[in-house]
Amino acid sequence: MNAPLKISMPAEASAAPKAYRLLIDGKHVDARDGRTLARQSPGHGFTVSHYAQAGEAEVEAAVQAAHKAFETGPWPRMKATERAAILLKAADLIEARLEDIARLDALESGKPIAQARGEIGGAVDIWRYAASLARTLSGESYANLGDAMLGVVLREPIGVVSIITPWNFPFLIVSQKLPFALAAGCTAVVKPSEMTSASTFVLGDILMQAGLPAGVVNILAGFGADVGAPMVSHPLVEMVSFTGSTRVGKMTMASAAQSLKKVSMELGGKNGQIVFPDSDLEAAADAAVFGGFFNAGECCNAGSRLIVHEAIADDFLSAVKALTARVTVGDPLDDQTKVGAMISSDHLTKVADYVAAAATEGSSVYSGGKQLASNAGQYLDPTIIRGVTEEMAIAREEVFGPVLSVLTFESIEKALHIANNTPYGLSAGVWSASIDTCMSVARGVRSGTVWVNTFMEGYPELPFGGYKQSGLGRELGKRAVEDYTEEKTIQFHRGQRTGWWVG
Ligand code: NAD
Repeated sequence: MNAPLKISMPAEASAAPKAYRLLIDGKHVDARDGRTLARQSPGHGFTVSHYAQAGEAEVEAAVQAAHKAFETGPWPRMKATERAAILLKAADLIEARLEDIARLDALESGKPIAQARGEIGGAVDIWRYAASLARTLSGESYANLGDAMLGVVLREPIGVVSIITPWNFPFLIVSQKLPFALAAGCTAVVKPSEMTSASTFVLGDILMQAGLPAGVVNILAGFGADVGAPMVSHPLVEMVSFTGSTRVGKMTMASAAQSLKKVSMELGGKNGQIVFPDSDLEAAADAAVFGGFFNAGECCNAGSRLIVHEAIADDFLSAVKALTARVTVGDPLDDQTKVGAMISSDHLTKVADYVAAAATEGSSVYSGGKQLASNAGQYLDPTIIRGVTEEMAIAREEVFGPVLSVLTFESIEKALHIANNTPYGLSAGVWSASIDTCMSVARGVRSGTVWVNTFMEGYPELPFGGYKQSGLGRELGKRAVEDYTEEKTIQFHRGQRTGWWVG
């Protein structure tokens, strides 16, 4: 048995937890009933943060503030250059506080600090990209409707947007939504996950410092039922931008349908990484390990199904196993850590139950499979499961932990069948030296993103989102600001009335 992980206690462990208040109408406020939520570091076990805990009264106040800012405030009426300047200032301020924000995300979510720094750096880039799009947003004009008519199609901000985010990429995901909503001229109410709210509150402070007018962004901490649900049903909210599980996404859509709100949904995934014998197997093995265990597998894009050609399965898997043994698991605040803590003990149990159930269905644990002993926090060993077949729960359901399920194929048709045999359609990867093979897989997989001879790269220029039950709509890309707009058609007529009706 391996020695228990040694987790060092950081300075924060002996200081008072940081306290965060709600941001409503430009002011920091407590909840009216004085309730607070505490968050423990899943990697260390001490309380990192206290947040004021919102309820329905705070949702009402936040939506009213966002509505007032939209109806009568300067934000939707400003020149795009002025909005862009504030977004760029915010990007600079995020960059200046990158280390603080990364540390908060690492402490609250258990992700490795080096990875968190990369995410915040990526978020800075997204805020800058959104600022550039603010200035290119435009509509259409039609001078081809006859001499008397000019048609103009405007893009106007849609109004108040409710933004609801999950715990796995706290700062990055809000940054895939909010800057684009702001670039369009919308106002927003934002609810981060009840487990990882701190960095979103820091973002609120940064936005105020950057010069965002009061009420344009309001931030509430709290639970889905008390805060998320009324943010979706509120009649003054025009759009809901949600990232989270497919289960809650469906509930959110059903609720939004009652008032026909626009919805944008980024949901779960069960993504396949397909490896052919003619690929660069060393690179593919490294990517397979990265895809399976990045963010402890708590990742919508996790390449959780490794679909390998039978002819190379044994050799390839022993290379994957050897690389997995070199993945450093442990203290999220250690620069060398690649896999940090699991988000909660409940979630760890859920993942461990999936692994146990897979064994009873006939597959076998090829590597890992155990909770790791440690002096603090909750950690799972990166796990590889062999002998998985398509009908097993572990091959179909989102496990959301460091668990790689291995399936094998003998033909490209079979590989595609396996890849598509899931209700999800977020992403996939293919490894081959043959352009024909890569193109056949890229065209044949029903998913929003396909990586060819690489895995899980992201760029703000490229749209991201899911097919099937992985979501609805796309984030990022050059149309990201348009998502937060309505189209208005204006028809100008000149001269004498044409087409008299009565006469
Ligand atoms: P979750 O669905 O449990 O929660 C997401 C958010 O919704 C949280 O803020 C939660 O408080 C809120 N919520 C819960 N119940 C609600 C309700 N009834 N009404 C409104 N809001 C409610 O998801 P999670 O466990 O926080 O995150 C993990 C999930 O997110 C995984 O399924 C993962 O695949 C998905 N995810 C998807 C993407 C993507 O871009 N496709 C990115 C990251 C995570």
